[in-house]
Amino acid sequence: MKKRSDIPVEFTWNMEDMFPSDEAWKELYRETEKRLPDYQNYKGKLAESAETLYQCLLFDDECSLAIERLFVYARQKSDEDTGNQIYQELTGKAQLLANRAAELSSFLIPEILSMDETLLSGYLKSDCGIAHYRKVIERVLDKKAHTLSVEMEELLAQSLEATQGASQIFNMFNNADLKFPEIQVGGESVRITHGNYIKLMENQDRTVRQNAFFALYGSYKSFINTLASTFSANVKQAVFYAKARHYSSSRAYALAENEIPENVYDQLIAAVHDRMGLMHRYAALRRRALGVEELHMYDLYVPMVADYDRSYTYEEAKAMVLEGLAPLGDHYLSLLKEGFRNRWIDVYENEGKRSGAYSWGAYGTHPYVLLNFSGTLDHVFTLAHEMGHALHSWHSDQNQPYTYAGYKIFVAEVASTCNEALLIRHMLDKAENEKEEAYLINHFLESFRGTLFRQTMFAEFEAIVHRKAAEGEPLTAESLCGIYRQLNVEYFGPDMVVDHEIDYEWARIPHFYTPFYVYQYATGFSAAVAISSRILAGDQGTLDGYVKFLSGGCSMTPIELLKLCGVDMSTSKPVGEALAVFEGLLDRLETLI
Ligand SMILES: [Zn+2]
Repeated sequence: MKKRSDIPVEFTWNMEDMFPSDEAWKELYRETEKRLPDYQNYKGKLAESAETLYQCLLFDDECSLAIERLFVYARQKSDEDTGNQIYQELTGKAQLLANRAAELSSFLIPEILSMDETLLSGYLKSDCGIAHYRKVIERVLDKKAHTLSVEMEELLAQSLEATQGASQIFNMFNNADLKFPEIQVGGESVRITHGNYIKLMENQDRTVRQNAFFALYGSYKSFINTLASTFSANVKQAVFYAKARHYSSSRAYALAENEIPENVYDQLIAAVHDRMGLMHRYAALRRRALGVEELHMYDLYVPMVADYDRSYTYEEAKAMVLEGLAPLGDHYLSLLKEGFRNRWIDVYENEGKRSGAYSWGAYGTHPYVLLNFSGTLDHVFTLAHEMGHALHSWHSDQNQPYTYAGYKIFVAEVASTCNEALLIRHMLDKAENEKEEAYLINHFLESFRGTLFRQTMFAEFEAIVHRKAAEGEPLTAESLCGIYRQLNVEYFGPDMVVDHEIDYEWARIPHFYTPFYVYQYATGFSAAVAISSRILAGDQGTLDGYVKFLSGGCSMTPIELLKLCGVDMSTSKPVGEALAVFEGLLDRLETLI
């Protein structure tokens, strides 16, 4: 493995664009540390005048921007070589500063909420600059009906420590204590881990898949009553806080946090159910492609099409991304080129470098992308994906003030997935033979299965389970397994043998401990596929709207932002459009294999 110093500088990101030197970082750190106690100057005084309120919000923005820049720089430098003690220490210092700021500013929201509303709306009309924060203040006020008295809020805050045990217990159990058995793979003993399980599920040797599947779920099964109690406690926690805060349900509470109306969730599930036949056809095709008498749950991850082995240089990858994203227009392409040329990207693996890929950065400097590019097709898509995030941030940062630049999770995966969808459609058009075409279609169909169908099934499971808990029905291992099994039967249809082991799958999904989170993967994917299809069809209105969407940050709600590109997530239409793309690909693959 190469040392970082052996990587040519043009393949490393230029962190000097953020801070010219560590010394400059330290200067901002000292300055910020000195400023933080000034929060005290505003405490208890926000209602005094519009000017005071404005100055406080401005001060809060300035502090958080400084801390963001300090933290991102230290962390990204640390990711270059995770063994580097210097940047570990700077990251720790930035984190402490962030915690300190959170503590010192904790009076802000309660104090705004306690202000007289007539007085406050009078303040908002003042021309001292406060109008800039109108949306921030309105968002705080939206929560007023769900904010309790000061004493009650304190009690709730304290109770959290005692009630969040379930998710901690699950994490400890799942990551530290639970050990899976060893199985034989190609004459060798291999212990199953969370990390290698999916790889084992992709093994061409069916016995390996079978053994891994039975062994993994056997482990969960032997603890299933404990896991049911743990999960049930987590659900009850969510139900309790939703009730305490006067929300109609735990789902209403979770969605309100992101300004998402509940019908978005229902429309997603309804739209997928409407076309469930497509998933059944997919299962039938998979059974035929694998040439098996019975399709089992352990046959789900192995590729339907034999490996189309090709590797790509980084130069080729950049060229493919530029070609594939050409429908987004010249300006978008010029930004991509700027990112490629001006060292936004840390391309190759080196000793100690953080694994995986991400796009990150701080307001005021161009975005950054970390890759570990090794030339697989997946890595070409990763480049398109991460540059999607990067250019989303670039557009929002350029067009929004700091206060409104950060976009929300609900829309975060739209730009990245849209890029992947555009790239794969381009590659399909250019496929040189049917084998390559089949391979690419398989790749895209797997994204649909894993992101749209699977996450919607998860979302449906959560909705059912939380509703039952709210109605006072006990969540036992038996009832949870029964609900989960029924969903699998519905989703996969008659061509799938739904092995009983899969009934325990809910017990190993960490995301279920963050209630009502996963549906956003399915909605984001659907929106992205719908948008990419319209752009490819030459719809100029969608393209213009898409640039506005990218530029919107959090200046509007996620649903309003998506409406800019003609995608209304409060209807089932975008999900339907995405599923129509799935259908087209399925039609084609059925003729190819
Ligand atoms: Zn992403």
